Amino acid sequence: MPVPTARMMSLNGRIVPYDQCQLHAFSGVVKYGAAVFEGLRGYWNHDHGEMYVFRLAEHLERLRFGMRVMRLEPVFEAGFMADSLLGMIRANALRETVHLRMIAYLDGDDELAATGPVGLVCGAVPRPRGRAVSEGVHVAVATYARLADNAMPPRVKATGNYINSRAAELEAKRNGYQGVLMLTARGKVSEGSGACFFMVRNGALHTPDIASDILESITRDSVIELAREQGIVVHERTIDRHEVHAADEAFWCGSGYEIQPILSLDRLAVGNGMPGEITRAIQRAYFDVVEGRSNAHAAWRTPVWAGA
Ligand code: PMP
Repeated sequence: MPVPTARMMSLNGRIVPYDQCQLHAFSGVVKYGAAVFEGLRGYWNHDHGEMYVFRLAEHLERLRFGMRVMRLEPVFEAGFMADSLLGMIRANALRETVHLRMIAYLDGDDELAATGPVGLVCGAVPRPRGRAVSEGVHVAVATYARLADNAMPPRVKATGNYINSRAAELEAKRNGYQGVLMLTARGKVSEGSGACFFMVRNGALHTPDIASDILESITRDSVIELAREQGIVVHERTIDRHEVHAADEAFWCGSGYEIQPILSLDRLAVGNGMPGEITRAIQRAYFDVVEGRSNAHAAWRTPVWAGA
């Protein structure tokens, strides 16, 4: 079933209808998976009559970093990328919470080592808060290892990386789970197919460090900051697969996932098998900030209409 993408998209800075947002089938992105993806959220605040894009600057910075590592020509200024995204949201007059997608891709029909021309596409998928945020998810450990940094760059949101995530997620879903936790090639906890992992032990948060073959997630960074503001100690470190079974609570987080409690791993309950207190406290702080119901972290919210 196709996702309900908003009607207008942005292609290289031009607003085009969804069905005219086309690339050539022999472009570098299709042949070689040479592209960098960004997933952000725009939160509709009904009381303010405003949409807030969450941590736009950090997402654009990660996109530019990813393009650099992928050796795609740095043809877009940050201002152009921001205008492309915000212009697309305004062209759709979106008044609901959305998942925003940007892809910087290798265009043209050259061979493997081409670095340009580079294109930029932006679109939006209406997506309210999912049930998994309140209810939690049951998760399996993947038999697929998370891709290793000396093979492909996990800290870059390269579209090709998702071959790994997709295989792991398909496996978990075939087996009746709602999500998947991947281990590094060395067998340590890495991350989900689209989210970063946290667990609670004795009141402190523990999350795999950035050398655990994870994406340097912007939500993970936000969670760490919000937790520390609440006086919760956060450890970024190597985590063993079986240590998760000793956790009192667990959750994972991402722009699309938001913050979802993990109820069980490989059919063993995490803690008492219910969303935990610290998980709920982090969720409350997160949603207050992203939806603009709290004045805290105003710099993390870019208003779409106030800036029009
Ligand atoms: N890991 C992977 C593999 C992801 O695809 C995502 C989603 N972008 C995340 C983690 C979470 O990253 P972020 O918080 O920046 O959305």
